[in-house]
Amino acid sequence: MNQNILTAEDDLQIQSFIDYALKHEGYSCITASNGEEAIRKAREENTAIMILDLGLPDMDGKEVIRTVRLESQMPIIVVSARDRESEKIAALDAGADDYLTKPFSATELMARIRVAERHLKNQIRQEDSGGSEVRELRIDLNKRLVYLAEKELHVTPMEYQLLEYFFQNIGKVLTTKSIIEVLWGKGYGSDTQALRSLMAGLRRKIEKNPAKPEYIITEIGVGYRLLDQ
Ligand code: CA
Repeated sequence: MNQNILTAEDDLQIQSFIDYALKHEGYSCITASNGEEAIRKAREENTAIMILDLGLPDMDGKEVIRTVRLESQMPIIVVSARDRESEKIAALDAGADDYLTKPFSATELMARIRVAERHLKNQIRQEDSGGSEVRELRIDLNKRLVYLAEKELHVTPMEYQLLEYFFQNIGKVLTTKSIIEVLWGKGYGSDTQALRSLMAGLRRKIEKNPAKPEYIITEIGVGYRLLDQ
């Protein structure tokens, strides 16, 4: 595989832990210790994925994300401290794809990298296939139909839209605010009740046990995620 992964982190211990874990899996590592350097290397080096610590000394992480997003759609995984929930959500809404909470294990790191890679492949593949599937759940984006275990599921137009958004972002966490904006438009970002009841209805159709979802899981305090496996 041997893709370049850029890690922006000012804590040398965490930086070398990430480097070690990535190299062990055969990736090439590019490192940056501040926001300015991260933006420059994202632009100049052939980087596939970026891991971005939100606590960099020179710049707000959201600023780094917005600047990189002007030129690149590369997956950005943000790293933040456990008590900085709002910072993490703001970073996702600014265009980051996923997050890791400190402290994290090499296993968690690699799981996030695999989701990012699947997303990179999907961006290319979805254009020609017009469909996508996760285990027994399948969506046909051309015919706008949903299947569960090969049987067509009857979903409402809103439920379809919700599922389509998840299928465009398999494995990725989607913030409550971003989902509401996709479904109802900007300005409705704080109206979470409608989303909660829409989600409950959809879960009754796709989940064996809606109280213990296996497809769309809740990321407490952040949003939801369509699980890859
Ligand atoms: Ca830091």
